[in-house]
Amino acid sequence: MTRLDIEAAFSTRDVWMQHLGLVIDTAEKSSGTAALVAVDLDGVSDLEVELGTKDAAAALGRLGQLITDALPDNYDTWFVRADRIWIIMPSPPSAASAEAFALKVLQVVSDHSGFHNGVTSISGVAGIALYPGHGDTRFQIVAAAEAAIKVAHSEGRQVVRADTGLIADRAFGRWVLSEFPSAIDDHQISFVHQPIVDLSTKRVEKLEVLARWQHPERGAIGPGTFIPHIENTQFGDVLFDESLSTALRDQRSWTANGLDAIAAVNVSATNLEKWDLADRILAATELWGIPPDRFSIEMTETALIRNGRRAKSSLAELAASGMTISLDDFGTGYSSLSQIIDYPISNVKVDRSIISRLESSGRHRAIVSALLVMGKESGFTVTAEGVETAAEVQIATDLGCEFAQGYAFAKPMPIESVLKLPAVLPATS
Ligand code: C2E
Ligand code: CA
Ligand code: CA
Repeated sequence: MTRLDIEAAFSTRDVWMQHLGLVIDTAEKSSGTAALVAVDLDGVSDLEVELGTKDAAAALGRLGQLITDALPDNYDTWFVRADRIWIIMPSPPSAASAEAFALKVLQVVSDHSGFHNGVTSISGVAGIALYPGHGDTRFQIVAAAEAAIKVAHSEGRQVVRADTGLIADRAFGRWVLSEFPSAIDDHQISFVHQPIVDLSTKRVEKLEVLARWQHPERGAIGPGTFIPHIENTQFGDVLFDESLSTALRDQRSWTANGLDAIAAVNVSATNLEKWDLADRILAATELWGIPPDRFSIEMTETALIRNGRRAKSSLAELAASGMTISLDDFGTGYSSLSQIIDYPISNVKVDRSIISRLESSGRHRAIVSALLVMGKESGFTVTAEGVETAAEVQIATDLGCEFAQGYAFAKPMPIESVLKLPAVLPATS
């Protein structure tokens, strides 16, 4: 059965929910199982810009047909949104078989990523939720599959199966969203700065601004814990604006105090989706009187790839202003550097998961050396992230990394401490 007329799909939102409910009811009555594979397609908004909404819908419809053709007849395939395909499986033989089907679907997507002869390519990740196990109602099953998609994106994995931990995570996510408005109003959110050091001079080259949340009952909640739950909501913009103005305001203070260091802010995938991102950043630097070439933004490769065209146009504008553009967490994603090289990246930050293994693993040293060679050719510098020991600082220096950030130099600190920071930092510990 095929239900892939995507234009019609938008007007029949209840139909697939009903269908999922029906499949779950049948499974319940027969003590059987059901699975929902939700596929999140990346690049759809770019495709719509390239082809126009109507032709993009037609192209996606053809892709949907290819997917349907690749699956058994009793598996229903639906476009529930232009960028979201659901495959509803009555009684899948096992959880592993649901995963195998998800991989097959992603294979079809990648095989046909250039299916419309245009430049935009479509890729996808899949989240899987099983009945029983991941929920008793269709709403819980959908929520579990969506949570799995989020994990796939944040961990750079292709297929993620929901688990009970994820479901607890959903509950936590709802709590975060309910608390966040008062967190902002009551000033529970603050920012700290962490130095990034020039390895040849040990001077503080940059200070990266990092968010902190002090909740009155729960205490400190780390940014890695709460940001994934808010970044796809309007709070993602609020947090970005706060971090931007804090970075610029504090940069004025440390500059006035004699520390000539660049400020760096993190830009999330959702921030990068906005067409006016570059204008907002440039307007803010102007407002605070900071020259753009004394400012820096950081983003992950996943965030770049997810936003292709929009990221490219924003980054081109920011790079033209002289701003440093850093690729964050290098080594944790799955994209290749050849994909990244199309973007105007001026600095690559190598993740601690690689840096911490430099001493013990020749392969990890080789990765960083190769990156440094590429950097010399393509014009980007390399920062070693999360250097904790003097030995890690030494090996990063010996390999030729230009910059380093980590506890070996300094932990993230409030602005009051930044103002007391010496311009040259010795590597302690
Ligand atoms: P990130 O951008 O990779 O930031 C570096 C993280 O590594 C920070 O964690 C920092 O405290 C930690 N770190 C620094 N040196 C060391 C070290 O030597 N050893 C170890 N083990 N860790 C080190 P933090 O502050 O918990 O932030 C986690 C992540 O949350 C950040 O990773 C960033 O992706 C995100 N984040 C933080 N603040 C913001 C923000 O304002 N906006 C956005 N969009 N993301 C933010
Ligand atoms: Ca960062
Ligand atoms: Ca990082």
